[in-house]
Amino acid sequence: MKAVCWEGTNDIRVERVPDPAILNPRDAIVRVTSTAICGSDLHLMDGFIPTMKAGDILGHEFMGEIVDVGTGVTTLQKGDRVIVPFPIACGQCYFCTHDLWSCCDNSNPNAAIAEALYGFSPSGLFGYSHMMGGYAGGQAQYARVPFADVGPFKVPDHLTDEQVLFLTDIFPTGYMAAENCNITPGDIVAVWGCGPVGQFAIRSAFHLGAGRVIAIDTVPERLQMATQAGAETLDSMEDDVFECLKAMTGGLGPDACIDAVGMEAHGAHLDYWYDKVKTMAFMATDRASTLRQAIHCCRKGGTLSIPGVYGGFIDKVPMGAAFNKGLTLKMGQTHVHKYLPELLRLIESGRIDPSFVITHRAPIEDAPQLYKTFRDKQDGCVKVVLKPH
Ligand code: NAD
Ligand code: ZN
Repeated sequence: MKAVCWEGTNDIRVERVPDPAILNPRDAIVRVTSTAICGSDLHLMDGFIPTMKAGDILGHEFMGEIVDVGTGVTTLQKGDRVIVPFPIACGQCYFCTHDLWSCCDNSNPNAAIAEALYGFSPSGLFGYSHMMGGYAGGQAQYARVPFADVGPFKVPDHLTDEQVLFLTDIFPTGYMAAENCNITPGDIVAVWGCGPVGQFAIRSAFHLGAGRVIAIDTVPERLQMATQAGAETLDSMEDDVFECLKAMTGGLGPDACIDAVGMEAHGAHLDYWYDKVKTMAFMATDRASTLRQAIHCCRKGGTLSIPGVYGGFIDKVPMGAAFNKGLTLKMGQTHVHKYLPELLRLIESGRIDPSFVITHRAPIEDAPQLYKTFRDKQDGCVKVVLKPH
């Protein structure tokens, strides 16, 4: 089959690889009909996530048709149309039974690597390094799905791939980011990053009762997309974000701040260059300008929600500001399984059509070029959907 493979930092290729096969009774094989490139994939492309190996198949946002099931899967049949949550979860451990699906204790066969770094291992993830399980991803013609009696979620035929594909990741991610803000009616929520995750966070914040959302980025078409959802906007490179937010919130600061940028933040300030030099010298793992700024800007007693991915150790995080202002911090890989049914209902009822975010559609062969287009925000690119067949 054809698959999008990571061959090294900034080296992504479409290659011929062996078809996946059932390895365990609870596996299923999905013939992928649609798959997307995520901002998290850019961290792999740019070499920010350790334990990638040449030849690894990328992709964690995918859906398709079940073409084979293991003997232990009774909930799915050949021909079922499913979306596949990006965290792999067993459905039975403490974490799965407490709706903490991305913390599943049984789905990472390489848990020891993650434990050395994090103390405890998160769940396995599709196409996201050996530290996260070494699973082949879904930017391919076929994918093996472990714990297929738990993860794949059947979707109704009257909804198109483009309407439901983002239930695998970015829609629940934006939603959980907003839910983590503890929004009370009328709250002002500031969102750093107007990529796909930021776009869903903005819409979810309004849905959960925010009175105003202030969206921060520097890419005009992304800010424009935020405006269409009713957000006010700031340019992270042009505006003095702290002073503007303070002025826009009657001197208090936003009630909640969402960091939908993560470990590859760009910035107009000195700390950006400090992070840049340190990460290039392998003395730091993440660039954290957004995280620092969001802590600085948040109102006293407010909430900081962090859907943006961080990987390792960060210095110059203003812990004193977070502590002395009494902030609440919430974060994590999304517990996709928890949100799927509720968000599918929102789509079915017509309240939201997630396909608004798609700007590029292409055959899988175009993936290497489109990774670059998406990373460099060229050609108005906000979200890429690939067709493997
Ligand atoms: P993206 O790269 O398309 O979007 C990031 C946006 O942040 C870009 O528009 C960029 O211009 C903007 N940005 C960069 N520096 C900024 C700054 N200093 N201030 C304001 N904006 C700035 O990616 P995406 O797909 O939207 O993903 C965003 C983040 O969410 C990534 O870190 C990704 O890994 C993460 N993510 C997390 C989960 C999860 O489960 N928590 C799931 C999906 C994605
Ligand atoms: Zn993703």
